[in-house]
Amino acid sequence: MSKSVFVGELTWKEYAARVAGGECVMMLPVGALEQHGYHMCMNVDVLLPTAVCQRVAERIGALVLPGLQYGYKSQQKSGGGNHFPGTTSLDGATLTGTVQDIIRELARHGARRLVMMNGHYENSMFIVEGIDLALRELRYAGITDFKVVVLSYWDFVRDPAVIEQLYPEGFLGWDIEHGGVFETSLMLALHPHLVDLDRVVDHPPATFPPYDVFPVDPSRTPTAGTLSSAKTASRAKGELILDVCVSGIAEAIGQEFPLTNGA
Ligand SMILES: [Zn+2]
Repeated sequence: MSKSVFVGELTWKEYAARVAGGECVMMLPVGALEQHGYHMCMNVDVLLPTAVCQRVAERIGALVLPGLQYGYKSQQKSGGGNHFPGTTSLDGATLTGTVQDIIRELARHGARRLVMMNGHYENSMFIVEGIDLALRELRYAGITDFKVVVLSYWDFVRDPAVIEQLYPEGFLGWDIEHGGVFETSLMLALHPHLVDLDRVVDHPPATFPPYDVFPVDPSRTPTAGTLSSAKTASRAKGELILDVCVSGIAEAIGQEFPLTNGA
């Protein structure tokens, strides 16, 4: 049997054997194709949750589904805005429907445990809506034991000592991290060939009023597209984040989906 944790690398027979009985935890990274400044590629929000899922899956014996490559529209105060070339987004209903379709298919295969790992903040409520509609549909079909855990991997970096190591000059909040120290450090640890630190723009953190305006005024977003500078990003910080996220998420999944057959 294939040792891969990636569903797409298994045969259907291998997959069916793993999923039978519903105990195996399925993991679905949900990303976006979105600009991440002058210094990074545009599929960061897919690559990072996929890497975290892979490591967690190897630790707990889970399987990783192919990640969703597109996500909901970039918002100015969390992702710079949807006006950048390259940023390619779904309508909310499309993302919701995609999540709903995948859950229905997993249930048909026999899976009953799903972890959805979000890599793009703006996806959050559309994922939740897809889960809600899918579980409602399954309930009508008599399937009441399908459980979903939904999380954003950055929420597991909460320890003040870790935050202090990542941001010795002071933490400015997750909302303006887009393309900043956090994501860039993880990319340096995981995919360094997709980062060019020489192109990082050293700009002050973006500031926004406590409201949104539509249509978006692009001049309110720093020119590079990042909302804070990645100047102090490093591979060591990325490895620290990865450790914290993988162990925290593996523990949380163990609590939500305890082993029932001693496997
Ligand atoms: Zn991102």
